[in-house]
Amino acid sequence: MVTPTMSKARAFVLLQTLAACIAPALAADAATTPAIESAPVPPPPAWLAGVDAMYDGLRVPGLERRDFSGSGSGADGPEHWWQVATPLLGTGAGFRVEEIGRSAEGRPLRHVRWGKGKTPVLLWSQMHGDESTGSMALADLFRFLGEHPDHPVTQRLRASTTLHFMPMVNPDGAARFQRRNAQGIDLNRDARMLATPEARALKALFDRVQPAYGFNLHDQQPGYRVGDSARGTAIALLAPPSGPTNTVDPTRARAIEVAASIRIALEPYIAGHLARWDDTFNPRAFGDLTAQWGSSTILIEAGAIEGDPQKQQLRKLYFVGLLAALDSIASGSHVGVPHALYRELPENGDPWSDLRIDGGTLAIPGQPHARADLLLEFGDPLAWRGGSIKDIGDLKERPARRTVDARGLFIVPAMQRAPSTTAGAAEAPETPCRIEIDAPACFFLARDPQGRDRVWSPDDIDPATVPSHDAGR
Ligand SMILES: [Zn+2]
Repeated sequence: MVTPTMSKARAFVLLQTLAACIAPALAADAATTPAIESAPVPPPPAWLAGVDAMYDGLRVPGLERRDFSGSGSGADGPEHWWQVATPLLGTGAGFRVEEIGRSAEGRPLRHVRWGKGKTPVLLWSQMHGDESTGSMALADLFRFLGEHPDHPVTQRLRASTTLHFMPMVNPDGAARFQRRNAQGIDLNRDARMLATPEARALKALFDRVQPAYGFNLHDQQPGYRVGDSARGTAIALLAPPSGPTNTVDPTRARAIEVAASIRIALEPYIAGHLARWDDTFNPRAFGDLTAQWGSSTILIEAGAIEGDPQKQQLRKLYFVGLLAALDSIASGSHVGVPHALYRELPENGDPWSDLRIDGGTLAIPGQPHARADLLLEFGDPLAWRGGSIKDIGDLKERPARRTVDARGLFIVPAMQRAPSTTAGAAEAPETPCRIEIDAPACFFLARDPQGRDRVWSPDDIDPATVPSHDAGR
């Protein structure tokens, strides 16, 4: 948890103060789990406290919703993201922007270039359309580079690297906030076949740039835990192998050092909530193949911080991690960073279910009452929207991100009316929702089996809002 050693605490009071904003959300699920054993993590780079202090002025406004909707700008999704980012990408700030292709539905695919150094770096975001944290962090990075040209980190990056970005690789998916592209293809399983225009554009850019380093920017399921602990993964990292033998050649060694540099920067914020992604070689995935094609590749996966449904806290951490990674490349500070700092990160464990409702009593009309736990998954697990029932019965051993204590309460089906199929037809009568596997979470908890004294329902945004009640009553 966010309890660094005393010496670190003295040196990074500011970081800790800011990290403390994030800490309470993480503390709840960490309390039950012992701290992980690991090699001592060195202090973060000296510039980080200053960048942390200036971050509120770097956070680009207009990206407060992770599907980039509802902005009032007249554009949503990928068009809105580009409307926000484009003013940051002026030639005066050192940027060059070119169109490098069109998506399956004709949306522009763009290459952003910045810097004058000899080390080419390629960063691509949102090839999964509903994984937008990297795109948010890139906007903040553009602002940092453009508005702080004299910052020592900016100067190092400009002198030593040329940064190539392909933000928003999958704009059609982003427009729907879905993983796959408009053709239904997962672009990160299309690196070998290159069947999609988006994958072909990224591959052509890669071939042109020949990046020494590649950054593959994603989000992962919020249910993932760090190893076998109860701690949710906030950020997962991977330096993918370049083939099925999973060896560490010099190219991968550099990626491991850069990934470890990200850990060093993020440790004061989210110690114990950093994990490693599974390193099984995937011959269809971009990160694995860019490693095979000769780039030191780093995968960054934003997981979840409870209470951060729009990933605005994670966005900052993602920005900090990216800046630390790029600076470690530009400054050479990654050289000699112990690989153990990467290797000792636990892998992502099995994802937990979203919500378990413990010890309620099923009160289904026409059936005998029965004690039952319920396991729910949510379509939008961070906003607790779109719940459905995944299991019913004695489920005490099934882990979940949140639990609701329903002892002494009844699980009562809500009433629903079937949609009328014919215009002008009489309204169908209301019937109780079904409580069964894969059915929508269409029920509520009540103090009485008839459901008159209603206490909580899955539509209540946060299970923490379930009122305390006397379980013995
Ligand atoms: Zn992804």
